[in-house]
Amino acid sequence: MSDNLLEAPERVLSTMNPDGSRRWIRPKSAMGKWWKRRRVVAWLLMILFTAVPWMSINGKPVMLLDVVHRDFIFFGVTFQPTEVVLLMLLMLGIFISIFLITSLLGRGWCGWACPQTVYLEFLYRPIERLVEGKGTGKAHTKVAKWRVALKYALYLVFSLHLANTFLAYFAGPQQVLEWSFGAPQEHMTAFLIVMLVTAMIMYDFSSFREQMCTLACPYARLQSVLLDRDSLIVGYDEERGEPRGKKKAKDRGENIGDCIDCGLCVAACPTGIDIREGLQLECIACTQCIDACDTVMDKIKRPTGLIRFASQNTLAGIKHKMMRPRVIIYPLVLIGIFAHFIVGLNNREMGEAMFLRNQSAVAVPTPDGVVQTVIVRVDNRDDIPHTYSIESVEGVEILGAQFPFELEAYGSRTINLPVRVAASVFENSRYTLEMRVFDDVEFTANLHTTLFAPAVANE
Ligand code: SF4
Ligand code: SF4
Repeated sequence: MSDNLLEAPERVLSTMNPDGSRRWIRPKSAMGKWWKRRRVVAWLLMILFTAVPWMSINGKPVMLLDVVHRDFIFFGVTFQPTEVVLLMLLMLGIFISIFLITSLLGRGWCGWACPQTVYLEFLYRPIERLVEGKGTGKAHTKVAKWRVALKYALYLVFSLHLANTFLAYFAGPQQVLEWSFGAPQEHMTAFLIVMLVTAMIMYDFSSFREQMCTLACPYARLQSVLLDRDSLIVGYDEERGEPRGKKKAKDRGENIGDCIDCGLCVAACPTGIDIREGLQLECIACTQCIDACDTVMDKIKRPTGLIRFASQNTLAGIKHKMMRPRVIIYPLVLIGIFAHFIVGLNNREMGEAMFLRNQSAVAVPTPDGVVQTVIVRVDNRDDIPHTYSIESVEGVEILGAQFPFELEAYGSRTINLPVRVAASVFENSRYTLEMRVFDDVEFTANLHTTLFAPAVANE
């Protein structure tokens, strides 16, 4: 390191050299029982990610985030942006569920279900090993150029597929298929989105890789508050493993622990850490070190599990406590949230109507009363069209001819509606206008807004 650079007192990040440059990690694969289990889960998740846009319930997509038309469909139920409370309850429920899972299973999400881990470890890295070989370290600098080119060509194919699948969540699979066979200039925005997402996926899985977990992901930063000493983590049994020493020393009968300091757990780690140094932010609970160490233990005829799933308390010889305050509080909060969500879902109105603020409203006095334009917005939240009508109280005359009108399923319309109000009903220049919007079935909404007419007070 150059003398004029400040050297960190200790290791800062597993992916960084002391001078701040990137330390490339080429983990050695350890295909033990945990890896095989994770592979099953990963393949199921990859199939699911591709299949979900094609799946439907009662003729509606299982999931569609139609940002353009502002319709969000989850499990066949359409939500509109105006249904803020239900959407917030859903989001809150998902966040608290993640808190609960983390407090019980540690970073189970990271190691087993996060798309970053799933695609890197079970698609992109296997392609790299298949095409370039399994060598680690310098072996990779000597790979033939055609192999590198082939690897990137395969990366491109899968990245394009992922980008198109990603787009299908927002535009629907049929639309994406249609675009795929059309000329790019006919759907330039969608084309550019696919190109951008493909480039990001390529960069992530070919270069950025584990840095997504160690540098970019906010979830990793939250671990220290989400985990406690009874949460399940991937941990090293220090009691059993230390003092570590070479196998020869062990064979000579020296009083050393089970860790033979072979370094395989470090070589297998995709984030480049040494789990024997304790729980670290970079550990994504991927179980590769467990598989690597179990293979070693089998070879030296010692019990497996020197590195294993266990809580910090269990590894320290303290009795594991299943029932802790957070494990009780999170489920109670979740029950409350989902109960409100289900009740809200069952009682949701099939429409919504409201007055919008009219910034340019001017009250115009006429011989027959005061004329003012109000803005009415109507949302159809049903999956069939409806006809909407409006009425008001005596003394209010609706001048616009926009009502009644038909609104398509999940459509919305905003209307500038002039009304004439008798001058006599104004008190101190104010009048609370009441109106009722109703559809052809059972939806009805009572609206009110305050009209100001300074000219009335001057008379
Ligand atoms: S320490 Fe083990 S579980 Fe954690 S990231 Fe490394 S290999 Fe995976
Ligand atoms: S793989 Fe097991 S034996 Fe080898 S260094 Fe890691 S903990 Fe020790």
